[in-house]
Amino acid sequence: MKDNIFEEINKSKKILILAHEKPDGDAVGSSFALYHLLKNLNKEVDIVLLDVPETFKYIKDFDQIKNKPEDGYDLCIVVDCAKDDRIGAKDYDIKAIQNIINIDHHHTNTIYGKINYVDSELSSCSEVLYYLFKDKYQITKEIGEALLTGLLTDTGGFANDNVLPSTLRMASELTELGVDFHKVINKAVSTQTKRQFELFNIARERLVFYSNSKIAYTYILKEDLDRLGCVPGDHEGIVDIGRNVEGVEVSVFIHEDDGFRVSLRSNGKVDVSEIALQFNGGGHKMAAGCLFIENIDEAKENIIDAIQKKL
Ligand code: 5GP
Ligand code: MN
Repeated sequence: MKDNIFEEINKSKKILILAHEKPDGDAVGSSFALYHLLKNLNKEVDIVLLDVPETFKYIKDFDQIKNKPEDGYDLCIVVDCAKDDRIGAKDYDIKAIQNIINIDHHHTNTIYGKINYVDSELSSCSEVLYYLFKDKYQITKEIGEALLTGLLTDTGGFANDNVLPSTLRMASELTELGVDFHKVINKAVSTQTKRQFELFNIARERLVFYSNSKIAYTYILKEDLDRLGCVPGDHEGIVDIGRNVEGVEVSVFIHEDDGFRVSLRSNGKVDVSEIALQFNGGGHKMAAGCLFIENIDEAKENIIDAIQKKL
C-alpha cells in the first residue's frame, strides 16, 4: 500500500491537495505538510481550501492556498476527510479525477479513494502522514512545522485521550529536526484573539447542564458571530469549556453557520461518533459532529435525547 502511494506520487506531475470543509488545524497542517513534501520532489502542487482559520497563517506558503481547483491534475490527495461529500472544494466535481488517494485517521472513513490509507488508531492525519513518509522522504523543518500543527490541534495540546507513545515520539522527533515546539503550541493552541475571548465568554455564560450534570450544552448564533466580527475557526475550542467540567460525560456545542453545526466531545463513557452517525455526521469516539439544517431547538433536543440513551 505505501509503495503504491509512492509510485502514484512518483509518476504524477500536477497534484491537487484537498481536505475536509471548515478545515481545522489537522486539515490545514496535513495539507501543507504534503504540499511542502511534494514541492521538494519538484511537483506542481495546489492546495484548495475554503474558510481557512487565520490562526495557521504562520505556516510557510499559507498565502498560496487557492479557492478553486484548476484543470489538468493527474492525482488528487485528500487528507483528514472521512467522506467524499465533506471535501471542502464546493462545486468541484471530485469524481472528475479518477486518481484519488485518501489519507485519513477517521474510523468512519468511507474508503472513497482509488488508494485508501486510513489508520484510525493514530491521533491525527498529520501523524498518519508522518509515519507514512518519514522513512521514504526527507522531513524538512517546514514539513515538520505543518505536521506539528495538526498533531497539537487534534490532540488539544496533548490533552485528549488520542495521545499514544507514537504521538509523543513524533513530536519529539520533529523537535529534533529544529521545529519550534513553543511557537507552534502557542500559535495553534494557546493564543486567543480578543474576539475569540469575547465569543468564549458568551458561550460560557450560556452553558447549561442536563442529566445530573453529565451533559453540558452551549451554543453560538450567527448574530453573535456577526456582532463580534468573527472569522472562520473562531469557535474552535468552545466545546471544551463544558468537557473540562468535572463529572461531564458529553459536551455539546452548536454553532450556526450554513445550518446548525453540532460538536460533540466525550470524556470516555459515550462513543460520540455513534451519536453523530445517527444524524448523518461522523468523527471519532471522543470527538464527533453533525449538521442540522433547519432548527437549533430540534438539533439540541435530538442530540441531548440520543446522548441520554447512551448514558
Ligand atoms: P468538530 O467538532 O471539531 O467540528 O469535529 C469533531 C470531529 O468530528 C472531527 O474529526 C470532524 O472531522 C468530525 N465531524 C464533525 N462534523 C462532521 C460531519 O458533519 N460529518 C462527519 N463525517 N464528520 C464530522
Ligand atoms: Mn483530524
